[in-house]
Amino acid sequence: MSESVKETHEFQTEVAQLLRLMIHSLYSNKEIFLRELISNASDACDKLRFEALSDDSLFGGDSELVIHLAFDKDARTVTVRDNGIGMNREEVVENIGTIARSGTRQFLDKLTGDQAADAQLIGQFGVGFYSSFIVAESVVLYSRRAGDPVEAGVRWESHGGDGYTLENVAREHHGTEVVLALREDADEFLDAWRLRGIVKKYSDHITFPVRMQSTEKDGEDEATDAGEETVNAASALWMRAKKDISDEEYQTFYKHLSHDFEDPLTWTHNRVEGKYEYTTLLYLPARAPFDLWDRDHIHGIKLYVQRVFIMDDSEQLIPRYLRFVRGLVDSSDLPLNVSREILQSNKVIDSIRSGSVKKILALLQDLADKEPEKYASFWTEFGRVLKEGPGEDHANREAIAKLLRFASTHSDSEEQTVSLDQYIERMGEGQAHIYYITADAFNAAKNSPHLESLRAEGTEVLLMYDRVDDWMMSFLQEYEGKKLVSVAKGEWPDTADDDVDTSAPEDGSDKELTKRIGDALGERVDEVRVSKRLTTSPACLVFKEHEMALHMQALLKQAGHDVPSSKPTLEINPAHPLLVRMDGETDDTRFGEWASILLDQAILAEGGQLEDPAGFVKRLNDVMLAMGED
Ligand code: ADP
Ligand code: MG
Repeated sequence: MSESVKETHEFQTEVAQLLRLMIHSLYSNKEIFLRELISNASDACDKLRFEALSDDSLFGGDSELVIHLAFDKDARTVTVRDNGIGMNREEVVENIGTIARSGTRQFLDKLTGDQAADAQLIGQFGVGFYSSFIVAESVVLYSRRAGDPVEAGVRWESHGGDGYTLENVAREHHGTEVVLALREDADEFLDAWRLRGIVKKYSDHITFPVRMQSTEKDGEDEATDAGEETVNAASALWMRAKKDISDEEYQTFYKHLSHDFEDPLTWTHNRVEGKYEYTTLLYLPARAPFDLWDRDHIHGIKLYVQRVFIMDDSEQLIPRYLRFVRGLVDSSDLPLNVSREILQSNKVIDSIRSGSVKKILALLQDLADKEPEKYASFWTEFGRVLKEGPGEDHANREAIAKLLRFASTHSDSEEQTVSLDQYIERMGEGQAHIYYITADAFNAAKNSPHLESLRAEGTEVLLMYDRVDDWMMSFLQEYEGKKLVSVAKGEWPDTADDDVDTSAPEDGSDKELTKRIGDALGERVDEVRVSKRLTTSPACLVFKEHEMALHMQALLKQAGHDVPSSKPTLEINPAHPLLVRMDGETDDTRFGEWASILLDQAILAEGGQLEDPAGFVKRLNDVMLAMGED
């Protein structure tokens, strides 16, 4: 059989690149290699336990799942061994020789050169195994898949660099063993006390025991487990009573669960007893993971059934707008052999999901009420994801709206700190609505002509400049009985104090002017009317209430989408000197040019795209030249 021959393979380009980066960037964080190896061993035990539910012969008579940790001072090796699922030859090539994930480039691009920050990315990205090379000069991995024959064992070896060798070897036990030959400067890991400390620090709450030789090896062969002690707590932390768990334990468990280096912002741990029984332990991370924007990559919540790990990327467990949440759900009501298909439409899951959503929203509200600074940092990291909520989760729309934060004309600061409740508190006597504007950048929102008159009368306007805002607001029409009104869309609402008349009265001459402009622009506009929004700008565009903002239309067009072109209304400010001058213009051709420039300017101010930019430039130049001649 040709497969038993020793083969030499090259690493995928990205792997080689990653290895080099890892060795250099994680140098001051050497100890994480052990966390990664133990985490893999624990995953492998989880997988075997799960597969054995339908075929317990896979245990091969060895159903006590254990992770062994050993070191050998003379040989200068550290070994991690598990009796989990193991890998066959193809799986070793697939899982260890390549990075079978699409995000590799993304990961490499994300590296900053800042060791602490880079180290944090490693685990999140799932390149954990290679962290071995931070401390090891060479790595040998033996493995045999549970259920495969003894001679189907595999030996993989690599000295980092460009590649690895692969051969079949007999392996008496299924599972995986990783032997690290340490670099010269990694002596510190040839020490029981040091290793024990690392296990305690990172792996205390993995559910399988990590056993370590209690005395240093004295030349005997490794196979004997005598004299081993269990180093970690090896209990399902989430099943313990809240009062018996310290903050530190919660934090350590979070790091194990999420591969995050940082402490979580906060968490909520609940045992639900009622129609269904389940436990949830849900964390808010302090920082956004690199793949936050990948809406399809949902892997935050692990599903357990009676402490048995089932799967970790079930999108049934958490809606997308909460995809930043990390944690687990342990149910007593699901069958152990639950499949993804079963989860698709399952009452238990639906109930757990809506329960979890409520818990998370309540946790966020609590954070916002009691620790506004922490909430502000949450908002900076995840606010734009939460903004997907109103469109996705109608049932909780009001609760989500309460959590939203915006920039506003109250401070004119770009920071998003104003809640709808705060806005309402500040509303003036005669003000009935909540006003907002959406734009493609903060300055575009802040300086938008649409809010000139509200600004002049001191009415607060929320400034929205995130991409998702225009879409989100189409789902948020009301809050606490108040209408949310875009100042850039629709008729001007007659709700502000009636005494303050911000509009120029539409007298006869205005009527004539709007008609003239309308005739000149023809099909390009729906209507031309005198504006009540403007005080200092000559004109602005207004869309109908349910139409998409112009910057969104431009964005979608750029992305190649067909956007139904809606004709805007052009609102003018007849008091503006430019319009006064136009009013006096008798040459119809010239008047037409001016009108066209006026419209194009308004489109540009909205972040829109001109249909004929060159024509605009030419007209503008003509006008400028004519000015010179005057
Ligand atoms: P991740 O654990 O995030 O998938 P790793 O680089 O740590 O990334 O591991 C890559 C893959 O190698 C794992 O997904 C798993 O399929 C396989 N693997 C690593 N260690 C083991 C092990 N001890 N037993 C079985 N499979 C393993
Ligand atoms: Mg791993």
